[in-house]
Amino acid sequence: MQNYPTITIIGGGVSGLCAAITLKKAGYKTTVYESGARLGGRVQTDVMEGQILDHGFQVLLDSYPAAQEFLDFKALDLVKFAPGAIIFNNGKSTKVGDPTRDVSFLFATAFSNIGSIKDKLKMFTLSRKLKQKKLNDIFETKETTTLDYLQKAGFSDQIIQNFFKPFYSGIFLENELQTSSRMFEFVFKMFSQGSATLPAAGIQAIPEQLASHLETNQIKLNTTVSRVVGNQITLADGSVLESDYTIIAGQADRLVPNLPISNIKWHEVTVLYFKTTHKGFGKPIIGLISHPKSLSNNFHFSQDVFSDHENVISISVVKEHDYNENELASRVRMEFKEHAHIDLGDLIKSQTIKKALPSLKNINYCMDSTETRLTENVYLAGDHLSNGSLNAAMLNGKAAAQAVIDKIEGKVMVG
Ligand SMILES: Cc1cc2nc3c(=O)[nH]c(=O)nc-3n(C[C@H](O)[C@H](O)[C@H](O)COP(=O)(O)OP(=O)(O)OC[C@H]3O[C@@H](n4cnc5c(N)ncnc54)[C@H](O)[C@@H]3O)c2cc1C
Repeated sequence: MQNYPTITIIGGGVSGLCAAITLKKAGYKTTVYESGARLGGRVQTDVMEGQILDHGFQVLLDSYPAAQEFLDFKALDLVKFAPGAIIFNNGKSTKVGDPTRDVSFLFATAFSNIGSIKDKLKMFTLSRKLKQKKLNDIFETKETTTLDYLQKAGFSDQIIQNFFKPFYSGIFLENELQTSSRMFEFVFKMFSQGSATLPAAGIQAIPEQLASHLETNQIKLNTTVSRVVGNQITLADGSVLESDYTIIAGQADRLVPNLPISNIKWHEVTVLYFKTTHKGFGKPIIGLISHPKSLSNNFHFSQDVFSDHENVISISVVKEHDYNENELASRVRMEFKEHAHIDLGDLIKSQTIKKALPSLKNINYCMDSTETRLTENVYLAGDHLSNGSLNAAMLNGKAAAQAVIDKIEGKVMVG
């Protein structure tokens, strides 16, 4: 090893943290600069009135290969969601799920009216096919939209409207199923091979666990980087630092000009948290409102997941609308009464996340380490380089770190 190069990581989200961990494991010290007051980037949890409120409904799929590598699932005390959903429309509810993994879904799924028998058999066949399909093959398959993929696979409009649209709108954070079919296959495979989970303390336990591998003096919070040129980093307060190697683990277009990947568009979501006297479903499971005119999309009860003292329902709105907070809350209240016969109490909080998931075409599984190199000194990471998932964020952090290690240790030619 050469003598201790200065390595800077810009961004303390999951990707930046995984880059720092990878470098630490290889014997290198880094400094992480994070503009926010806490680590985690998009993965945050607030505790309000004793309630655990994640920033948006997001789940860790325990089948993610990168999560298995970077996280200690046991220490996270993961709560598993049932492999299915309860779908509400016009006061009626239908339960659907994978009966091969949770036998309680067998009867309900077989007799549900979400789609035809043919649809249900197709779903089963698709699950089997994607379990066997290798990740590399998924990301090499020609891309189309998810909607086109489902239609070509022969699924009926009925099951697309009743199940695929609300379920995948809650995951892709867009409601027309325009997301790449590669992402659909990847997510479907991950759901088929594992469970959607949440740490018992909320989603922020993930970056907290990652950060616990680092020294506290390696992390500089409330510190925004405004420019990166060669081996010089300018902070927002005007101070200039020297950095032999810099990993930008966030959107870099404001930091470095003329990037190959810039001006990314983002999907947004609004999440509303209401108190409710409803007892919940009795186990963690995703609820969906499938009515085509409903703004409310997916929801879950906090008591089912976190055993909070009072029940809170967290509802995601994905469709575009012109309502202000009060109007949206009234509309969602009305929809829950009409479609699910659920009374919503006080609104605790509503939160709109403008840059929730990158809207990407030509998505890939993750970057090869050589592709993360922007210049001799500057490397890129973040989910937005590949696909909007914790898995991609982790892998791209690791790839950028590996590229820096290879450069320092002379395994690559100076470009
Ligand atoms: C509502 C919602 C639902 C989601 N659902 C899921 C899900 O179910 N499953 C899943 O796998 N993924 C989900 N995701 C995506 C997942 O959260 C992201 O893929 C992941 O968090 C991205 O991590 P990142 O480190 O690449 O980026 P970010 O989390 O965006 O981190 C970038 C960090 O860089 C910092 N930063 C940026 N610029 C600067 C600067 N100039 N100086 C200093 N710091 C800077 C930012 O403050 C931020 O902390 C969801 C995301 C949201 C918001």
